Amino acid sequence: MKIKLSKENFNEKLKTLSNEYKILAPVSLEYMGTFSDTDVVRYKEVSSLDEMELNRKSNFSAKEIVFPITQILFYFTENEFKESDIDDKKLLIFLRACDINAMKRLDEIYLKNGIDEDYYYKKLREKVKFVLVGCRESFRNCFCVSMDSNKTDNYSMGIKIDDNEVFLEIKDKDLKIFNGEKCEFEIDFVKENLFNIEVPQIDKINSKEISKHEMWQEYNSRCIACGRCNFVCPTCSCFTMQDVFYKENEKVGERRRIWAGCQVDGFTSMAGGHEFRKTKGERMRFKTMHKIYDFNKRFGYNMCVGCGRCDDACPQYISFSKCIEKVNEISKERK
Ligand code: SF4
Ligand code: SF4
Repeated sequence: MKIKLSKENFNEKLKTLSNEYKILAPVSLEYMGTFSDTDVVRYKEVSSLDEMELNRKSNFSAKEIVFPITQILFYFTENEFKESDIDDKKLLIFLRACDINAMKRLDEIYLKNGIDEDYYYKKLREKVKFVLVGCRESFRNCFCVSMDSNKTDNYSMGIKIDDNEVFLEIKDKDLKIFNGEKCEFEIDFVKENLFNIEVPQIDKINSKEISKHEMWQEYNSRCIACGRCNFVCPTCSCFTMQDVFYKENEKVGERRRIWAGCQVDGFTSMAGGHEFRKTKGERMRFKTMHKIYDFNKRFGYNMCVGCGRCDDACPQYISFSKCIEKVNEISKERK
């Protein structure tokens, strides 16, 4: 069903929906940016279209909704535990095609990568419905077209906004509370980015040769292991665990799952002081190969969706898309 309605009408119905759904969308958080007097665009609960920031790329993706930065999994005492409660409301998330495709990658890792599904991820993920926000034009550093993630049909509702009119494509019957005039329109998908890259085919990548290649050495001096590239990435899914014991009673506490990143110091540290990937170059190699080779070998497509957030966030101006291009060049040089 495709309809158009006024913003006021849309906002009214959104308010009604908020009785049943927690509505989450990118918002601009003033003075919360990295530098003074700057904002940051992040996912927060909203109640109207006016609160949403849909004209810019969000600095962080929607992944923190299903995979929170810090998540209390359960509380424990000496001989029993209690799972942490979660909100009963369903989740309606406004996001772009690349971020819906990124959620598919997280689903692979958390639900299809082994014998068991991740219980805590599933509990949040099964509450989610997507509202697809079209992209009229590409943002800086995006290369979603090259990564084949500029389009999706995995959404419950699609939205396009034109001045004071809202165009909706409603696929989910539970969202048919919006009413308006029937009309024809298409959700905008970016067809071209500001630049394109050639992504190497996995059968052309010699992983052993690439692993030893000198290309990674440049990152030893350039990368400062801040992990920003990991934390803004909608497909990075690594975490660490912390058991926190309360001061009042040290036999009682909580288990938390917390984001971790492969670029950060200590990520591969083991008891006894051994570390698998000591240098920044080795970490860059691991991240790159995970995004465009290892994941692909297991699931049949690339993990990176080309959102460009890692390039946006890197304080050292390290470009991940350039890194993929270098791997491609080396792979092509092979006879
Ligand atoms: S690696 Fe960079 S471009 Fe690829 S999905 Fe992650 S943040 Fe986006
Ligand atoms: S954001 Fe840049 S400097 Fe920071 S860890 Fe990632 S690649 Fe290194």
